[in-house]
Amino acid sequence: MAIERTFLMVKPDGVKRQVVGDIIDRFERRGFVMRGAKLMNVPRELAEKHYEEHKDKPFFGELVDFITSGPVFAMVWEGENIIKLARVMMGATKPEEAQPGTIRGDYAVTISENVIHGSDSPASAEREINLWFNNEIV
Ligand code: ADP
Ligand code: MG
Repeated sequence: MAIERTFLMVKPDGVKRQVVGDIIDRFERRGFVMRGAKLMNVPRELAEKHYEEHKDKPFFGELVDFITSGPVFAMVWEGENIIKLARVMMGATKPEEAQPGTIRGDYAVTISENVIHGSDSPASAEREINLWFNNEIV
């Protein structure tokens, strides 16, 4: 299994609730390495590009409103099989399916405010890292 990089983002609800430190701690304890991080307000255009796969879904407008509603903490992480493992650590998208012990299973109650985003495949990881960090990666 090759060393991979993935894009993770603590969403505005997670930043407000001050769980950024806990989330970083979980990935560090697992043995992953942080390669980029920034606290930022998200321009609407960036939010729309990031979520473009969902642009025809009924919740797209609400999703973009939410992600631009306050600062997010965007990160790039590296490690073996991290794309899949980060998704497991995040927990399922639907709160009723997110297992306790996962990030969403520990913190999230609604599908729209579910604390964290993580790339879902090598292709999305590459696309999202370029979109959010272009040349800023260490
Ligand atoms: P994930 O974030 O787990 O990759 P998706 O890519 O399917 O999930 O959806 C992106 C984000 O859109 C989700 O994290 C969630 O916040 C939001 N979302 C997904 N489905 C719905 C829905 N039915 N209603 C409202 N928001 C949704
Ligand atoms: Mg997704």
